[in-house]
Amino acid sequence: AHLDRIAAVDGDVHAFLHVDAEGALAAARAIDERRAGGAELPTLAGVPIAVKDVVVTKGQPTTAGSKILEGWIPPYDATLVSRLREVGMPILGKTNMDEFAMGSSTEHSAYGPTRNPWDLDRIPGGSGGGSAAAVAAFEAPLAIGTDTGGSIRQPAAVTGTVGTKPTYGGVSRYGLIALASSLDQAGPCTRSVLDAALLHEVIGGHDPLDSTSIDAPVPPVVEAARRGEVKGLRIGVVKEISGEGFAPQVKARFEESLQLLKDAGAEIVEVSCPSFVQGLAAYYLILPSEASSNLARFDAMRYGLRVGPQGVDAPSAEQVMAATRDAGFGDEVKRRIILGTYALSSGYYDAYYGQAQKVRTLIARDFAAAFEKADVLVTPTAPTVAFKLGEKLDDPMAMYLNDVATIPANLAGVPGLSLPNGIAEDGLPSGFQILAPAIKDERLYEVGSALE
Ligand code: GLN
Repeated sequence: AHLDRIAAVDGDVHAFLHVDAEGALAAARAIDERRAGGAELPTLAGVPIAVKDVVVTKGQPTTAGSKILEGWIPPYDATLVSRLREVGMPILGKTNMDEFAMGSSTEHSAYGPTRNPWDLDRIPGGSGGGSAAAVAAFEAPLAIGTDTGGSIRQPAAVTGTVGTKPTYGGVSRYGLIALASSLDQAGPCTRSVLDAALLHEVIGGHDPLDSTSIDAPVPPVVEAARRGEVKGLRIGVVKEISGEGFAPQVKARFEESLQLLKDAGAEIVEVSCPSFVQGLAAYYLILPSEASSNLARFDAMRYGLRVGPQGVDAPSAEQVMAATRDAGFGDEVKRRIILGTYALSSGYYDAYYGQAQKVRTLIARDFAAAFEKADVLVTPTAPTVAFKLGEKLDDPMAMYLNDVATIPANLAGVPGLSLPNGIAEDGLPSGFQILAPAIKDERLYEVGSALE
């Protein structure tokens, strides 16, 4: 049914870069056989899933939305993909994304944009717009995203779906094509909070192949999602990210949800996180710095594309590398590599990268202080509903401003979840974001399912 749905709507939506009908059907048949044989199967066995194209899949193309990896077939599975296969989840295919997960609209994909199923003239968010759109358009019941600065939560907000960024280290990064290693985290994209918890449980947990993986059991997320009890819980509204810059109707829906939580017995408290306002600036130095280093591996020698420089008979390795990176990377990727190498260069390191790391520490302290006063923090996920395709494409700063509410969680490593928060403007959805202390991911689901 999902393959039929993809065939019917993906020409318009373009959520997928690659569909593996044969592989998905074979996996589904194997589950049918096991079920017919009376085997006891995991909860999500047989439930198909779409995977963001930044996660490597053995035998299936993986491009990270870039021309530089066009045609590359990974020889191994990411740990999270192995876990999907182990429980018997058929993988429908790979979803579109901003190139190397840099962006908030999926317009930076080298393979053309994904469109928002609610309004095809609008963006589906980014960088994981393909995963969110696939779920919103009923092309897949579940999807995998990655979130470095909001790329699971912001697409969820603008497509009326649910997205979780688990605690940093909660889901293995082994087999994720790295953007910024200290920020990257994979997580679920779904249509309900309970679905997200069920998927979180499958992909989460310790992995010896990722040195930053948390060596502890997965938090009791499914139990919390089934309970959804907020009585007596202290819910903190972050003063610095609930007012200025947020569209009036986005704010109005947010206030209504606060009232619902209050009616359900929660206590609403205001908390102040003064350093959050510097989060965006710090992030857009730390991310390009790490990205410039991570993307150095695309050197024309090891993977994917290799281009010979024009008019050179016996080009040097450096010339091949330069020509390949020039042809293979898009403008946004080049912009960030240049920013990152600049911020890391010896004369500027202290002024930019060093300073940004200090802000990062202050943000972690803000969270620690806020979590003394509140069990969870809440904000609108994104400042506006989905904007029109092309609207912010020529203005990187306007695009970056979309991430103001999602970035602090990545900088501090804490978990966050976005769930639908009603129709805000032009018949389009907005999102409600819940943030919890590190390794207390279950609180996201407790509060999320109370609101759902
Ligand atoms: N919009 C953010 C950026 O462009 C989000 C990136 C992400 O989470 N992958 O960096």
